[in-house]
Amino acid sequence: MYSIGVDLGGTKILTGLVDHVGVIYNTVERSTKAEDGPEAVIERIARSIEEVTETVSINEICGIGIGAPGPLDSLTGVVLSPPNLPGWDNIPLRQRIEERFGIPTFLENDANVAALAEHRFGAGRGVDDMVYITVSTGIGAGLILGGRLYGGAGGFAGEIGHIVVDANGRPCVCGNRGCLEAVASGTAIGRKAEQVFNRPVSAKEVAAMAATGNPEARAIFDEAIHYLGMGLVSIVNLFNPSKIVIGGGVSRIGDAMFHPLSRKVKERAFPAPAAMVDIVPAQLGPNSGLLGGAALPLTQQAGSKKAESVLKGEFV
Ligand SMILES: [Zn+2]
Repeated sequence: MYSIGVDLGGTKILTGLVDHVGVIYNTVERSTKAEDGPEAVIERIARSIEEVTETVSINEICGIGIGAPGPLDSLTGVVLSPPNLPGWDNIPLRQRIEERFGIPTFLENDANVAALAEHRFGAGRGVDDMVYITVSTGIGAGLILGGRLYGGAGGFAGEIGHIVVDANGRPCVCGNRGCLEAVASGTAIGRKAEQVFNRPVSAKEVAAMAATGNPEARAIFDEAIHYLGMGLVSIVNLFNPSKIVIGGGVSRIGDAMFHPLSRKVKERAFPAPAAMVDIVPAQLGPNSGLLGGAALPLTQQAGSKKAESVLKGEFV
């Protein structure tokens, strides 16, 4: 039995045929060209699904899972109005794909999908309580609590990037101040560096300069890590996870980031939960979106009662 994962991003659509242990058989990558509007993009998704399933029978596919940029409503399968899909406004993406193929289809936001992928196939395998955090241009997260994806009352839980770590700090895109994302994301690091060095500097470059001993870069990098650490302290105290899995571009900095983060958590969180948590890099890299999409129909926590029906065999 196979599952189809679709990673719908602002610039590309990555689609793959995946089995229940996460082996990827076929993949297709297409440009999103979001500017062409939702109809054209839905058509591209449908074509890519047709291409990756050419070699198998439709009866061998248990479902289609789509990871898409938020905000979206995973229960109804409607994409609301994501900033990086211009022109998308209340698009019933799940329904459109489900009607086209007659296969149970699921929709989740990209951070939750990546969390599911790491939980089922990657760094969080075998763990019931795990927090996945992606640190790149923004900071996103997905919560796996008690073995299930946790969305809260309305599916909006897990906005760890908007934990306030500096009450009077820098303004955030959400309208608040001093959010983790406003002080520790790749964008925040780059913005601070631009002020200090008077030229555009990426977060990666700041990390490289810090590693060679540049004192200004060191200070910028240390400040971001400090705030990220404070965010992790709150997460550890709040959820008592056994793993915190960190992905996204900034996490590729490696030990220079993971060692101080672990140290801060040991110093500042409650000792018992701090002793239980491993803070580790994500394992799945650029395929996490498509693997997490494929995990949606394969898991019972996929946002709706329908997933349980799939597992009971009502749809297959
Ligand atoms: Zn915010």
